[in-house]
Amino acid sequence: MASSSPLADSSATEFPPSPRDPAGAVVVRFAPSPTGRLHLGNARIAVLNALYARAHGGSLILRMDDTDEARGTEAFAQAIREDLTWLGLTWVREESQKARAARHAEALETLRAAGRLYPCYETPEELEGKRRRQLARGKPPVYDRAALALSEADRARLEAEGRRPHWRFLLEARDVTWVDLVRGPSHAHAAHLSDPVLVREDGGLLYTLPSVVDDLDFGVTHVIRGEDHVVNTAVQIQIAQALGGRPPAWAHLPLVLGPDGGPLSKRDGALSIGDLRDEGIEAAAIVALMAALGSGTAPDPTLDWDAHARAFRLEAFGRAQPRLDPADLARLSTRVVHALDGSQVRARGYAVSEAHWAVLHANLTRLDELPAWLAVIDGTIEPVRAPEDEDFLARAAACLPAAPWDETTWKAWTGAVKAATGRGGRALFRPLRLALTGLDHGPEMAALLPLMGRERVLARLAGEKA
Ligand code: GLU
Repeated sequence: MASSSPLADSSATEFPPSPRDPAGAVVVRFAPSPTGRLHLGNARIAVLNALYARAHGGSLILRMDDTDEARGTEAFAQAIREDLTWLGLTWVREESQKARAARHAEALETLRAAGRLYPCYETPEELEGKRRRQLARGKPPVYDRAALALSEADRARLEAEGRRPHWRFLLEARDVTWVDLVRGPSHAHAAHLSDPVLVREDGGLLYTLPSVVDDLDFGVTHVIRGEDHVVNTAVQIQIAQALGGRPPAWAHLPLVLGPDGGPLSKRDGALSIGDLRDEGIEAAAIVALMAALGSGTAPDPTLDWDAHARAFRLEAFGRAQPRLDPADLARLSTRVVHALDGSQVRARGYAVSEAHWAVLHANLTRLDELPAWLAVIDGTIEPVRAPEDEDFLARAAACLPAAPWDETTWKAWTGAVKAATGRGGRALFRPLRLALTGLDHGPEMAALLPLMGRERVLARLAGEKA
């Protein structure tokens, strides 16, 4: 990689194709930190990156931002891969930042050699003190670069005291501009920014530099990420330029709010993707909501990835923070279930015939309710009967028509039961449904009855587990 790496080239012309170069293929990346499960907020960023790649015939790289050894774990990385796969995302390859430490160290040397990296010795408390004093004087809390004035002797003395330096990138005092694909023309003057810390006191790298190095090396053309990172953009552009690279195009999406306009939280039922899956939410519902949220279009959960990609326009996403109501997710999910066909359901591991699916599907809110209904049709259930209905059920059994049965059988049978018992309406239908299905709601009995068959119905009317 190193020899073909853009960072190793001295000329900028060999850099990854510019996003503005129509011949250049789109390369995007989703860069989760494997320090937790994927939740709706970051899954949205993943989905939008994947759609952008698909819409432009480009490719998506999954990059594990796993430099934070203490918190990042392989178990989380694996869970993220599984959740993304479940959502239907594909990526051309996976990269790990941890595995690229040598490249990052090289880049650090490039910055050092260019005079853009300097050691600082302030403790967090000292920095906090400076910050408070600046704010008290009505000044922006920008790092004052005091460390730049340290002499060799000062540094030697501080190190003799046991202090270890952290390292900052020296920003050039100029306005940095970019055309954000979501936020429009954007800029930040470096004078209003603190020189970012790239290397911690313990020698570990913070996220800022590895992200730039990897985006350049992997030829990333578009960085599509959450607005919480827009504060890093000017800094990352300057770092890319200091490394001799051409920065990618940027798109910063506003963060999603909960239904009440506050931050999206667990309290709103906005759980991790794994939790939503366990709750029976369909992946297609999540993808549809993520593709639409904030774009001014209505989510269509019956579309597949290609159809979503054809309809996808990053420019349609605005700066307003969209609200996400998890109840919408449940509703979309039910629409997905209703639209599944029998073969799709069988591919998901449910042994269901076309005839059974035709009768049951419209009544399901989640696919995992299906086995219970299959048991009602041709498995075993516990009939529910009130003591006062026992006689009624015995008389109903005596009225059962002879086989073969079809969709007209229920009407003929209940007509006969009504005539024999004098019961009508709810008093007639409810005990029959409870005895035959164990539940007081469900698909049309007229459709269920012929599928259950006469023997099973007789047994259930007699109160047998059948
Ligand atoms: N690992 C960072 C995050 O999860 C990636 C930020 C970026 O896309 O540059 O927030």
